[in-house]
Amino acid sequence: MTVDKKHDELRQGEAYAAFAPDITAFQKKFYIESYGCAMNFADSEIVASILQTNGFGATTNYQEADLIFLNTCSIREKAEQTVRKRLFDFRTVKKQKPGALIGILGCMAERLKSKLLEEERLVDLVIGPDSYRSLPSLIMEAEGGQKAVNVLLSREETYADISPVKLNSNGVNSFVSIMRGCNNMCSFCVVPFTRGRERSRDPLSIIRECRELFEMGYREITLLGQNVDSYYWTPSENEGTNGYGKPITFAGLLEEVALIDPLLRVRFSTSHPKDITDDVLHTMARHENICKCIHLPVQSGSNRILQLMNRSYTREWYISKVERIREILPGCGISSDIIAGFCSETEEEHKETLDLMEYCRYDFGYMYFYSERPGTLAARRYPDDVPEEVKKRRLTEIVSLQRRLSERSNYNDVGKQFKVLIEDDSKKSDQHWMGRTSENKVVVFPKNGLITKGEYVQVNITGCTGGTLIGEIHL
Ligand code: SAM
Ligand code: SF4
Repeated sequence: MTVDKKHDELRQGEAYAAFAPDITAFQKKFYIESYGCAMNFADSEIVASILQTNGFGATTNYQEADLIFLNTCSIREKAEQTVRKRLFDFRTVKKQKPGALIGILGCMAERLKSKLLEEERLVDLVIGPDSYRSLPSLIMEAEGGQKAVNVLLSREETYADISPVKLNSNGVNSFVSIMRGCNNMCSFCVVPFTRGRERSRDPLSIIRECRELFEMGYREITLLGQNVDSYYWTPSENEGTNGYGKPITFAGLLEEVALIDPLLRVRFSTSHPKDITDDVLHTMARHENICKCIHLPVQSGSNRILQLMNRSYTREWYISKVERIREILPGCGISSDIIAGFCSETEEEHKETLDLMEYCRYDFGYMYFYSERPGTLAARRYPDDVPEEVKKRRLTEIVSLQRRLSERSNYNDVGKQFKVLIEDDSKKSDQHWMGRTSENKVVVFPKNGLITKGEYVQVNITGCTGGTLIGEIHL
């Protein structure tokens, strides 16, 4: 269950529509469908860029594609099952179009390469998240009838020089990857195994990409990484005088991006609680255009479970972080990820999670029940012993509490005025705009005058639902 846009359920399985250029300019067509977190969606734009440079244009109709790609997620078992089902759908295309190639990209590649390629013969190409540069040669290999695989993880690859092709974009919001991989080894998580070691992207290439997006009309950028606060980049010896020239932390990078233009909003995701510093919080306070919203996943409210999860903080330490955020950034939105029913979690420990949620008054939440992932520390060390019905019941309690907290948070905003960036028509009516506050709350309000998307307006909040603020433009 999600109440926000980081792991957007509505986008799961989204196929890319070419923004530009003209599809007839390409001799062959590719279709790409993406699953999982925002990092995966950003990666699909890098893949699209590499494919376009090599003569493939995007199509949203897989029946007419020469290349069909699934950019996959392994974070929970359900995500893997969805992709597997999709592969069976795509196999039917091969009957009508025997030359079509089917490929698996991303996190499932390493885990399931031999199963998908050899045992089940479901795919022709398997390409891990650090191997997208080898796509053109792998496609050639697969066209020649060989099974093409590259799942090597890299310690350096950040695709810094590749300008992602923006597809399915509203022209207002964009994601920009600033780092790849993760070194944290939370015991439940497969990411360090599927995406490899943490590495930070060259700051100049990030700033350049953000500036170009701003010049193209984009007004909000989300800096992406599994753990953005541990971003750290140092100049290499042979970089010469053309590089950034000095070491830079996440706070420094955030400031550089914020300085591109006051009209460019900057967000970031995700912050590991152990790494977010006062320096980041003070940088956010200094710049009005850095959005006042922090995604700070807690996972559990019990110290024993947090230790088993290898999260490296306690409940008390986490609470002091939340208090620090509220002290330096009054009114800042705070959201979280929570896992219900981790190995050996008792009823009392589950209640500690509910209690912590109440204390933190999260504005949004992403909530999951624990799904054992092969190869992780938890899978090797701890029995997955909370019965499924108990996990699901605990998750339902967590979700309904979060719903109440989100409603309360929205209700508290009624009567206030917010600066809103207009993102698009509202889903329900083209007579209304949809935009967001700095705190990441969705606001819907009637259109009025010549204002258009990508512009900022002051909106008076007159009402709310559980997930949306309702307002009127302040005239
Ligand atoms: N790097 C981010 C962090 O530490 O906050 C999280 C990235 S992970 C892609 C997103 C969320 O998926 C995690 O915060 C966690 O709540 C959830 N998750 C990861 N592994 C899981 C598992 N095995 N079962 C259930 N949920 C899981
Ligand atoms: Fe996974 Fe933990 Fe890394 Fe997040 S910080 S990606 S949960 S290992």
